[in-house]
Parts: sequence; C-alpha cells; structure tokens
Amino acid sequence: MDLPALKDRFIQRTKQSQAVFEAAKMVIPGGVQGNIKFFAPYPLSFSQARGAWMTDVDGNRYVDYLLSFGALMLGHGHPVVRGAVQEVWERYGTTSFGVPYELEFAMVKQVQKLYPSIKSLRFTNSGLEATLLAVRLALAFSGKTHIAKFDGHYHGGHEQVLVNTSVAESLEAGNTRPAARKASLGLPDYYVEHTIVLPFNNLALCEQILREQVTRVGAVIMEPVQAGYIPADPAFMRGLRQLTRDLGILLVFDEVKTGFRVALGGAQEYYGIEPDLTALGKVLGGGFPIGAVGGREDILRLSAPTRSTQLTDIVFHSGTFNGNPISLTAGLRTLEFLREPGRFERVLDVTNQLKQGIVSLAKSYDIGVEPIGIGTIFNIKVGRTPAQADGSVPNPSRELREALDFALMYHGVFSKPFNRFSLSTEHGETEVAHTLAAFDKSFADIREVARTTV
Ligand code: PLP
Repeated sequence: MDLPALKDRFIQRTKQSQAVFEAAKMVIPGGVQGNIKFFAPYPLSFSQARGAWMTDVDGNRYVDYLLSFGALMLGHGHPVVRGAVQEVWERYGTTSFGVPYELEFAMVKQVQKLYPSIKSLRFTNSGLEATLLAVRLALAFSGKTHIAKFDGHYHGGHEQVLVNTSVAESLEAGNTRPAARKASLGLPDYYVEHTIVLPFNNLALCEQILREQVTRVGAVIMEPVQAGYIPADPAFMRGLRQLTRDLGILLVFDEVKTGFRVALGGAQEYYGIEPDLTALGKVLGGGFPIGAVGGREDILRLSAPTRSTQLTDIVFHSGTFNGNPISLTAGLRTLEFLREPGRFERVLDVTNQLKQGIVSLAKSYDIGVEPIGIGTIFNIKVGRTPAQADGSVPNPSRELREALDFALMYHGVFSKPFNRFSLSTEHGETEVAHTLAAFDKSFADIREVARTTV
C-alpha cells in the first residue's frame, strides 16, 4: 500500500476522532493542548486507558507506547498509583497544604537514593519549570550571562531553551557549527543572542566553542540521551564533564525523559557521571504533574529565602502546587515499586525483546528499520543509512516512517507518528506478542513504500 492508501484506511476507522478534532479546533488552537500532541490529518482522541492499553473514541484498542510522553512508567491507572491517591485522602485529607509538610523531606530522601549527585532539591510542577529554575540557578551561581545547549535538545517551552529544539536538516550530518535558531514565534532576540548552540557527540567542536565563550557561558544544559533515544557517546560524556569542570562551567543534565527510564538512576547512573544540577520530571510524579531540580548544595542554596532580606540576593522560585501531596505520594509509591527487586530489570528485558523482535521481522521483510535507544525508551530509525559517527540518526524517508506509523496504528499500536516508544511495567508478553504481530502486518503493508527508500 502507498502512504495515501494507508492514511485513508486510518481515516475510515477513526471517524469519531475526526469529528472530535473538527469540533475541538473551533475553540482549541489546532485541537490540541500542546503542539507536540498534534499529528496530521488529525490526532486520535481517546476515551479510556488501562494498563498498557488505550481505547480511542471509535472503540479501537492500542498498546500504548506514548505513555503520556514517557511519564507513565507503571502504565495507566496502576493499583499502586490508585492506592496513593486514596492514601492522600486518608493520611492528609487535602490535595494541597500549600506550605511545608512531612512528605517533601521523605521524597527528597528517596530521590537521593537513586541520584547521589542530588544533595539538595526543589520541586516544581513540570519539567519546563525544572529546567527554567536550573538555568536561573546556574546563571546566578556563575554570575554569567549565557547558557550553552545542544542542537536538537528539548528542555521544555521557556524562552532561554526554545532555541534549536530540532536538528537543522543541513546539520544532520553533524560537523558544522550549529547557529542559534528560534524555535518559536514571539521569542525576543535576546534569547538566541544569549544561547550558545553546541553539536552533540562532537567533543572537539564543543571544546573549541566553549573555550571561545568561557567568559560568557555559565552552564551547559543537555539531554544526555538526545530526544530520549540518541545516546551520548560515553567518551564524549566523560570529555564534556572534564571540560566543563576545567573551564568552570556548570553541567546540567536534563533527565526529564531519561530519569527512572535509562536506568532508575537516570543517564547519570548509566554513564557514571555526576552533573552539577539535574532536572527531573515525568516518571517522578507517578502520573501526576511534577518537576524537580536537584544537585550541588552550594548552588541550590542560592534559592533559600533565609539567605538575605534582599530579593536580588536570592534566586526566585515558587509555585502554588510545588510538592503537592498527590504528586509526591504517587511519585514516592511509584519509585518504591520500581525499586523492588527485578521490577525495572523486567521492563528493560521486555524492551529488549521487543527491539530484537522488530529487528528480525524487518530483516525477514528486507526493510531498513532499526530500533535505536537505551534503557526503556527507543525510537525507530527507517532506511538503510546507518547512524552517523557523531551519533546523529539520519532519517532519509519521512514517508516510510509515516507509512509505518499509520500501519501500526491501524494494527493497534500507538506511539504517535514519529514519536519514540516508551515501555512500562504493564508491557508484558501479551503486549509484546500483539505489537510484534502488528509490526509483521505493518511491514507487509509498507513493502512498496520501503522499496523506494534508501
Ligand atoms: N525536558 C525534557 C528533556 C523533556 O522531554 C520535557 C518534556 O517532554 C521537558 C523538559 C518539559 O517537561 P514538561 O512537559 O513536564 O514541562
């Protein structure tokens, strides 16, 4: 089947989603509550979810690999999370004290068990707020004016990091110096002028740029695994840690995607590297909104209100629902559950089984498709061009990937077109069998499109 035929087949069985979208877009821009949630011709609209499965408004069932963009490490509506919500009522009687209470301390202690680099921590309500606070702390601590971020890395939607959130096509091969580009309308020039863009996995060029900019750059912020699935080269990571230390530049790991997923202790455990600051989110909240910034005590201390009576001596940080009982209880119980012996390892095993299954099916159809990623997240690389030495993943055919995604949705597998796959404790044998059967049928469906792809 060609791509138009695959899309047409999708449209035929998702008429209610289309109707929801047509109505929603009259009052909701693009019909979505976040631009990334859109895909053409219209996003699926869902009515129910349980465990690893979601049901759309037309009654179609899918194994869910989007998992709320990776947040739901225990799948949908896990008894542990349900119990946590019940516990909040019974123990506290409220969803928000708005002021300090006991669980904040307990949760920080739990996070510290997994992230030894975190000596002190503040909670936020989202990953966006976490990287925002991390950047503010880093600029305050260093007294400098610029940050450096990597080309193609996403840190949420605040001004300072809405720069080069996707890799420019001309730079996908990697070796040229990436120029700062705005990633949004409405972004004042100030932010591109105060953001230095670095090439991922290219230590020599990073060193050259950072040495040139050392008097201005207070911190390097990065996704240790680009977009959650393109891993940093371990030597690059070691080199970058050494370089930033030598130059007196802070290193901030944004582990909103990788935290509790690449390893329970995140990419910092996987690579054995201690950043100065870490941003967390997603899994940390057990399915409820959360973010956190943790790290060196001498940096976090700058946000303590006890420091001074002068506002300008203190890093501002606040938030009505910061550390609220629902997010913290659900998060704490989720982390305790994930730390039970064998739990996380099982998710890793299932992820690897799935990846291997996809590889052997693709081989049997002679289609250039390969899963890429570490830990419990991966994405699908299409085409036969291998990943580049600099770690970048070429995508020679959007058409083939789109064809695969639409075929997979038709056969009951959802990750949202072009998106990565995340797994949960609820993905087991049944789900893997269903998913591989869907890949089998999808590969058969897309053979024609694959034939024309390099
Ligand atoms: N940082 C990274 C690496 C992310 O992947 C995301 C969200 O996907 C964010 C920050 C922003 O998190 P949130 O969507 O909770 O604001």
